[in-house]
Amino acid sequence: MKKLLVVAAAVSAMFAQAQTFPSKPISIVVPFSAGGPTDRVARDLAEALRKPLGGVSILIDNVAGAGSSIGTNKVAKAAPDGYTLLVAHIGMSTMPALYRNLPFKVESDFEYLGMINDVPMTLIGRPTLPAKNYKELVTWIGQNKGKINLGNAGLGAASHLCGLMFQTALQTDMTTVPYKGTAPAMTDLMGGQIDLMCDQTTNTTQQIEGKKVIAYAVTTAKPLTTPVLKDLPTLQSAGLKDFEVTIWHGLYAPKGTPAEVTAKINAALKVALKDPEFVKKQEALGAVVVSDKRIEPAEHKKFVAAEIAKWGPVIKAAGVYAD
Ligand code: ASP
Repeated sequence: MKKLLVVAAAVSAMFAQAQTFPSKPISIVVPFSAGGPTDRVARDLAEALRKPLGGVSILIDNVAGAGSSIGTNKVAKAAPDGYTLLVAHIGMSTMPALYRNLPFKVESDFEYLGMINDVPMTLIGRPTLPAKNYKELVTWIGQNKGKINLGNAGLGAASHLCGLMFQTALQTDMTTVPYKGTAPAMTDLMGGQIDLMCDQTTNTTQQIEGKKVIAYAVTTAKPLTTPVLKDLPTLQSAGLKDFEVTIWHGLYAPKGTPAEVTAKINAALKVALKDPEFVKKQEALGAVVVSDKRIEPAEHKKFVAAEIAKWGPVIKAAGVYAD
C-alpha cells in the first residue's frame, strides 16, 4: 500500500511538472565539438525555440567524442523530463551498424521530437593542394596513393560516412584522421595538416567563399543553388555513379519523457522551423529546413528507421566497425 502511494505521488509530481514545462533552463546536447555544423544547427535552433517555449533559457552542452555516440548516450540515460534534449544527425542511422556494442538503442531509447533540416555535403581540400578541380584531384589521388590524410569526426560522423563512400567509389585507401567534430578538423585542413575532408555546407560555405579551402564537388544528386556552391559538380556527374549523401538533423528526448512535454516541444519546433531568421541563416549555408510531415514525431521515427535500413548494408559491405 505504502509502495502504491509512493508511485502515485511520483506520477502526480510528473504530471504537475509536465503541466508547468518549461520552468527551468533546457539543455540541448550536441554530440560534436563547438563551432562545427551540428553545433551551428543546434545553436540557431535554440535561439528560434526560445520564444515558442515561453522565453526559457536553452543552453548548448557539447559532449563530443566517438563519432557522436558519447553525447547521444548521455541523452539516452538522462532524466526523461524534457530538460535534456539532443540534436543529432545521420549518425543516428549509421551508428547501429558501425558500433558492435552501442550503449543505447536508437529506435527504442528516445522520444522522437521531429526533424530539423537537410544539409548537403562538400568535398574539400587544404588550400595548398596542387589539384584545383575535381578532375585534377582524382589524378593527384592516383599519384599519391598511401600518402593522403582524410579528416573526419569519428566513426558515426557524416564526414566518416561520406569519406568511406568516396574511398570505396575510387577504390583507394586513405589514412583517416578522427577528430571530435569537424570544427577542429577544419582548422587542421585550413592549416594544411590534413589533405581532404567531406563536410556539411553549414561548415564549409564560408571557408570556400573565403578561399581558406578548395572545394571539389557536392555530394547531392543535383547541383546546389547557393551562390558560392552552385558551380561545383556533383560527384555523380563527375563519374561516381549513385554517389549521394545528404545529412539530416533531428531533435530527441530520452525515452519516457511525458507526452505532454514532447507535444509542447514539437509544437515549439514547428514554430521555430518557420522563424524567418532561422530559415534565412540555414538557407545561406545551403541547408533546407524541413517543412513537410517529417516534423511529425511518428514520421521522424519512420524516416530514421528507413535510414538505418539504407545505410546498414553499405557500412557492413565496407567492413568498418568499432567494438
Ligand atoms: N560535421 C560533423 C560530421 O562529420 C559533425 C560536427 O562536427 O558537427 O558528422
